[in-house]
Amino acid sequence: MTKEELQEALKPIAQGLFGKQGARRYERPHFPLRSLEEMLKDLTQIPPEEWFAYVFSREPLNGKFKDSQRKQWMGKSIACGREYAGKICREYGCSEPEQLAKAMGMKVSYPTYPEKADRVLFAEFREPDTIHIYMDAVKKAGKFLAKPEISEILTDKLDIANLLLAHELFHYVEEKHKKEIFTRTEKVRLWSLGPIHNDSAVIALSEIAAMAFAGELTGLPYSPYVMDVFLVYGYSPEEASGLYEEMMELAGRKPCAPISS
Ligand SMILES: [Zn+2]
Repeated sequence: MTKEELQEALKPIAQGLFGKQGARRYERPHFPLRSLEEMLKDLTQIPPEEWFAYVFSREPLNGKFKDSQRKQWMGKSIACGREYAGKICREYGCSEPEQLAKAMGMKVSYPTYPEKADRVLFAEFREPDTIHIYMDAVKKAGKFLAKPEISEILTDKLDIANLLLAHELFHYVEEKHKKEIFTRTEKVRLWSLGPIHNDSAVIALSEIAAMAFAGELTGLPYSPYVMDVFLVYGYSPEEASGLYEEMMELAGRKPCAPISS
């Protein structure tokens, strides 16, 4: 993947970083620009549980659920991620994501760009034991993190590559424990016909738990979902502003005023 391809791939970002299904937008709407500092201040104030509407808006099966169900799953998936963070730390005797990855025998690489341009990705886990962290996005955000007014909001607990690594480690842990882990055993019935039925896992549960796992391991004092806006901002402040607006509305909060031009 080249720089140009990555930029192209980042355009329909409002469609979801986790590959929301549906028709692609042909014309990009324009979002009023907002200050990165103001956006991060607002987003770091949203408690982990209150991200449920945003998280599920990226879930392919979302239309089948009610808010009461989404909230319940949010709580259970966060608890699941935190529980496994504790378990894994005890099992391997460390909590630092890079050390954990080594102890687990993972192959971790840090290429600049993803190989394929078909999905927007900042990092990925590939079965059975490979994790890629794409450094272009990390470096772009790193430039903003070097500013005191930004690092003060995001705190010294934030190491972007480490946070992405911790998230991907959860997907490995989840695969290893798929027979008993909540995010995999919890299923929805897509259809049934007499004794025949088709059950499906809910992708959002895995993503929520992966974020909670990463937050717990790194001690981040806010939801790692804040990274969606922070990482996108390096490519497009406008798309990041649109994503921020959507997050705030879905969390029932009022977005800050746009930068007046
Ligand atoms: Zn994930």
